[in-house]
Amino acid sequence: MSFIEKSLHTNFVWDAFDHSYLGRRKRRSSGFIDINCPMCVLQGEGADTRYRCGLKSDLGALGVNCFNCGFKARWSRGWMLSKKMKDFLAASGVPDVELALISSKAALLKRSSTAFGATPIVEPPCYYPEAALPDDAKSIDEWANEGCTDPDFIAVAEYLFSRGEAVAAWESYCWSPSPKDGMNRRLILPFTFGGKNVGYTARAIDSAIEPRYIGRKPPDFLFNNEVLVKRTRKYVVVVEGAFDALAIDGVALLGSTLTSKQAAWLRHSGQTVIVMPDRDEAGSKLIDAALKYGWRVAFPSVKGDKRWWEADVKDAAEAARRYGKLWTVLSLIESSTADPTVIAVKRSMCR
Ligand SMILES: [Zn+2]
Repeated sequence: MSFIEKSLHTNFVWDAFDHSYLGRRKRRSSGFIDINCPMCVLQGEGADTRYRCGLKSDLGALGVNCFNCGFKARWSRGWMLSKKMKDFLAASGVPDVELALISSKAALLKRSSTAFGATPIVEPPCYYPEAALPDDAKSIDEWANEGCTDPDFIAVAEYLFSRGEAVAAWESYCWSPSPKDGMNRRLILPFTFGGKNVGYTARAIDSAIEPRYIGRKPPDFLFNNEVLVKRTRKYVVVVEGAFDALAIDGVALLGSTLTSKQAAWLRHSGQTVIVMPDRDEAGSKLIDAALKYGWRVAFPSVKGDKRWWEADVKDAAEAARRYGKLWTVLSLIESSTADPTVIAVKRSMCR
């Protein structure tokens, strides 16, 4: 992919900040990310400890605005990198070499701006219509509290606990006694957005049943998207399956395809994205997506300085069942890299 093509999908100015800035970030519901202003001291003010510097980034721009020292800087695709933006990035810890590189990238994009001038900016989804769960569905807790002894319910509950503590701890699982679509032999995972039900997936507990998952998935949805608005999260781990997401409190694509709206949603969170692909062809597609967006890829199964997962552990849910949630999250962060060369080597090693 050429640099120009790639730059249509990434915001390399934000990425430079994101890789280098070590301080804590707070995310506001408006989409701003607040940090302790790195410019205040340079501007002759006292050090900011109250997160007064707001950052706003989307696919094609980065804005910086400090309410304490009054510092402002902005970059948009098609602009040169201003002196102020360079100062801000340098103060945020971006090394000189990288600063020179993104500065020349910005200049290159400016020169070829006619080639992509009309590219629309992709915004994350902001609305999903409310959707009903399957007939008679109630939460597992409710059924248990009512003393439900239906053998199908017991079997579904047993299946849930067999997935391990980290997966079973989620409070939103549901069950329905309805035999329609074999729902009584399925574990229901509701999809929520903004506190509303917007769909669901239902996992068959009997291995012979096809399809294994049925349900209703809204377009561009991210499962467990609630973690994206947790203001103090530094990382978000992106996985393919819902159980894997629950095991590590990440988000799931519910498939191996990443849409541009899902990518915009992840970027909007202000969290550093780590992709955890499955070890198959589909997972390889997800690594390509991570390379396209400049995200980190986790390789906990690849022998490096340290091999985190045993060879027979195939996914995050199984890792969490065996090693616990904290160790699994640590393994994903520690084994991840955003370096395209390292990603190329490691992906060839996990074939
Ligand atoms: Zn400031």
